[in-house]
Amino acid sequence: MTRETYGSKPREEIKVDLRSDTFTRPTPAMRRAMADAEVGDDVWREDPTVQRLEAAVAERLGHQAALFVPSGTMGNQICLRLAAPAGTECLANEDNHIFWYEYAAAPVLSGIQLHAVPGERGLLDPAAARRRVRTAPYGVPTSAIAVEQSHNRAGGAVLPLEVLQGLRRLADDAGLHLHCDGARIWNASVATGVPLEGYGRLFDSLSVCFSKGLAAPVGSAVVGDRDLVERARQARALLGGGMRQAGVLAAAALVALDQMVERLADDHANARRTAATVAAAVPGSVDPGSVETNMVLLQAAPFGTDGPGLVKRLGDLGVLAADVDPDQVRLVFHYEVTAEDADRAARAIAAAGA
Ligand SMILES: *Cc1c(COP(=O)(O)O)cnc(C)c1O
Repeated sequence: MTRETYGSKPREEIKVDLRSDTFTRPTPAMRRAMADAEVGDDVWREDPTVQRLEAAVAERLGHQAALFVPSGTMGNQICLRLAAPAGTECLANEDNHIFWYEYAAAPVLSGIQLHAVPGERGLLDPAAARRRVRTAPYGVPTSAIAVEQSHNRAGGAVLPLEVLQGLRRLADDAGLHLHCDGARIWNASVATGVPLEGYGRLFDSLSVCFSKGLAAPVGSAVVGDRDLVERARQARALLGGGMRQAGVLAAAALVALDQMVERLADDHANARRTAATVAAAVPGSVDPGSVETNMVLLQAAPFGTDGPGLVKRLGDLGVLAADVDPDQVRLVFHYEVTAEDADRAARAIAAAGA
């Protein structure tokens, strides 16, 4: 089963693609909006569709302004650059995307030292963070804290609101910038019922993605106050991220924001159901209680193999997955995976452990 898509062939019927929510393709409504988008040169601030998107996303997250950027990586890197002067450091949980998947961009592009703080399930404990805050001349001065909501490498874990509030207090006490990598902040909000702005207002800056579970083809936004976003525009230019008639992309992101957020609850339900089926069939392979949003992490050992071995075995059964480390495999549920697809995948995975 494949959802309706426009202008591209449906994926092969037997495959269920659970590698990532980045594989979602634009919906028919997005394609129509892209075709009809009113556009101008956005570097000259003359693209009305980009401006509508920026106003809409800022409002949703309880901030004054936003800036459309090509990728979540660029969004994070712009924010880190503004948050921490060169030669200072930013605290973050050791499993954050900014350490694992952004190619040392913060030290290379902005001279920022990332300081990895250990913590289970992506957690940055405020007390642990407080012990790591340093000031000159005794160490590299700390200028920022970064969190990730929901947490990718922690299998879609949601950082509790009290933890984020504790980090806000720490940032205020110590004069630090608090940044949120909110690539999947939509999932966190739908899962917990905390409104987007309830999260958004806690942070000095956020980077949010339209191109993950919301299914837009391209794009992210930097969100913050007017001054931060004005400086973000300069940083985007420096990094080569200015785009001209970007309204064709912003149009899809507007549809993503309007139509694709609430439905993430379906992906979460599919993830939970799959985890329950697999846990029952393959003891020790997954803790269903750990599934908070759209991801499921499988331990490979109970299947009698390792991460790459399990990916191969599942692939042979028509279920595409990703080995995120040597002994774990990640399943990601998204718009193009229907409830029937999820159930079919769950049965195949259960069979793989038999
Ligand atoms: C995907 C992702 C990003 C980066 O987004 P790109 O558009 O791929 O650069 C940042 N943070 C998290 C948590 C992500 O999952």
